[in-house]
Amino acid sequence: QKSNNTLGDGPHHNHITHGDFKRILNRELTHLSETSRSGNQVSEYISQTFLDQQTEVELPTVTAEEPPKPVSQISGLHGLCHSASLSSATVPRFGVQTEQEELLAKELEDTNKWGLDVFKVAELSGNRPLTAIIFSIFQERDLLKTFQIPADTLATYLLLLEGHYHADVAYHNSLHAADVAQSTHVLLATPALEAVFTDLEVLAALFASAIHDVDHPGVSNQFLINTNSELALMYNDASVLENHHLAVGFKLLQAENCDIFQNLSTKQRLSLRRMVIDMVLATDMSKHMNLLADLKTMVETKKVTSLGVLLLDNYPDRIQVLQSLVHCADLSNPTKPLPLYRQWTDRIMAEFFQQGDRERESGLDISPMCDKHTASVEKSQVGFIDYIAHPLWETWADLVHPDAQDLLDTLEDNREWYQSKIPRSPSSLTNPERGGPDRFQFGLPLEEAEEEEEEEEEEGEETALVKEALELSDTELPPKSSGRS
Ligand SMILES: [Zn+2]
Repeated sequence: QKSNNTLGDGPHHNHITHGDFKRILNRELTHLSETSRSGNQVSEYISQTFLDQQTEVELPTVTAEEPPKPVSQISGLHGLCHSASLSSATVPRFGVQTEQEELLAKELEDTNKWGLDVFKVAELSGNRPLTAIIFSIFQERDLLKTFQIPADTLATYLLLLEGHYHADVAYHNSLHAADVAQSTHVLLATPALEAVFTDLEVLAALFASAIHDVDHPGVSNQFLINTNSELALMYNDASVLENHHLAVGFKLLQAENCDIFQNLSTKQRLSLRRMVIDMVLATDMSKHMNLLADLKTMVETKKVTSLGVLLLDNYPDRIQVLQSLVHCADLSNPTKPLPLYRQWTDRIMAEFFQQGDRERESGLDISPMCDKHTASVEKSQVGFIDYIAHPLWETWADLVHPDAQDLLDTLEDNREWYQSKIPRSPSSLTNPERGGPDRFQFGLPLEEAEEEEEEEEEEGEETALVKEALELSDTELPPKSSGRS
């Protein structure tokens, strides 16, 4: 049974094109940008990050700071030749040396739960959360046996991989990778997907999550392109970071005692590699709208087996669900218990501000949300949820209905919390009784996408509504009980 999704309820409304989708979001964002300076900043951030836009021709240049290197070389690798290889006799229970193994075991009992405290796992594992969590998940899923992965090889690879995440990057470090891997593990276990994916596909999704941000420098693709970085040169400005994460993740398998796929057949290795590449490339946020449009189309045409699980009978459909699943895991922060979500927000803002500082020093334009003097943390989260996270998770929830209802409720509660924390402007104090909706959700009226001729008429009414909602949220009303429930 379909719920109150504004998209595609009617049987004659089938395919949403990427163009329709982006056009309408663009229009909504234009409205948002006109509401205020901070509204403009949130809008700029969303359109620059999540819409695959063409860059302008002229870009500022920065003086090169690194000596030239051969282009064919993957940068950022270290410890490949003489990594501290473990022997099979010395592998700790979770792959990491810790004096708090019992406490770690206790924390990892939540491995199958949405809301595992990754920060706690980091503390208890000597800051090796990725190794501990992947080790725990692989044991839980019996993947070491299924794919004949020696425990010492797994631990050696994971420690080397984790060592290639930057501990001094505030958000895109191994905590985030551990979080995405564990979230992927939980999403894969959702009832609607029971026994849908093969062991090899599960292995690929978990591996993709583990490597998906490795060697992340803490700046965006656009920053790397704007500063003529080696990485942008290497990958011709196309999904620069995602290509790099893949290259590093696979390259590290070649280090001593690191090939966790050594006992897979050639066919399995090739298949896994293809899937991992497809999944990690889909974590490029500029692919978000295409991925979401495709997912919506899949929801509209979804087929269910007699067992009540999704029927996915071809590679494009299977990989599309896996790509969406990993992308959801990558954007899962706002769906987690609030204390976890807030820590992630602090970290992403710290990373953005650091990039903003570098841009300021270099005389570059400061990227949206990256200027610590003007960014509104709370508004950015509300905007991020309304335009990106909620539309995505609502669609995912439709796909696996009703499995993701709790998670969607948490997302909406968290949205209300950030909304309530938006600092009030003086105007709201003079006019506190002003009524109307206090939230705006980006819902895409499909009729509009399908029936373009009628758009002009419909637009008048809808625009007024959107404007009203945005203006209201922008005058920073005190929080009210939401219309939801
Ligand atoms: Zn990520």
